[in-house]
Amino acid sequence: MKLILLGKPGAGKGTQAKKIADYYNIPHISTGEMFRQAYAGKTELGVLAHDKYWGKGHLVPDDITLKLVEERLAKGDCKKGFILDGFPRTLVQAKALDKNNTIDHVLYIETPDSLCIQRIAGRRNCSQCAKDYNIYFNPPKKDTLCDTCNQQLVQRPDDKEDIVKQRIIVYENQTQPLIAYYQNNIVTVTDNGNDSPDKLFQKIKKALGK
Ligand code: ADP
Ligand code: ZN
Repeated sequence: MKLILLGKPGAGKGTQAKKIADYYNIPHISTGEMFRQAYAGKTELGVLAHDKYWGKGHLVPDDITLKLVEERLAKGDCKKGFILDGFPRTLVQAKALDKNNTIDHVLYIETPDSLCIQRIAGRRNCSQCAKDYNIYFNPPKKDTLCDTCNQQLVQRPDDKEDIVKQRIIVYENQTQPLIAYYQNNIVTVTDNGNDSPDKLFQKIKKALGK
């Protein structure tokens, strides 16, 4: 199964993408995660993409992103399918993807802005194992330390308030048009914040009809 996940920043795409990938046994491909790992690994591309683009709330240019995704999709584990999280994010990316792939479903997680903003503000990750927390919705047991490794939780550099505002503008201008572009193929699941991640995942499975 080949899936695309759409939704605003902070919609909870990463959380659901992991569950979907586990359940359908397909690789979870997150371009945001790829950029963060490249930055953590201090590769030339990783540092450039952070310093010039995503660290400021701008998109990484299409040519860089497309090359990264094409290389990833060429790996053997993608033969059985994949879930793309954070890609495509522009019409150029969507058209390039559709040229070489038949996407089964485009899943759109629809969320109110207020929920996304609160989720982003509370989002933290373990500096060692990267496990996700949210200081409002899913806090660690002790202070600001990871339950598993007891290491400090940290905030993503692009989750700071002024950068988030920029990411929302970029989303509205560049990514929202994809909902119309994929209109014949889109499955919408609404998350109004009342469902647990597991409950929302049950809704997603039902919506995908599998
Ligand atoms: P979120 O969905 O929470 O905004 P992601 O982890 O998907 O965050 O992405 C983080 C940042 O990485 C984005 O704000 C953007 O700058 C960059 N990025 C991720 N995916 C893409 C993409 N497909 N094209 C261009 N830039 C991207
Ligand atoms: Zn940890």
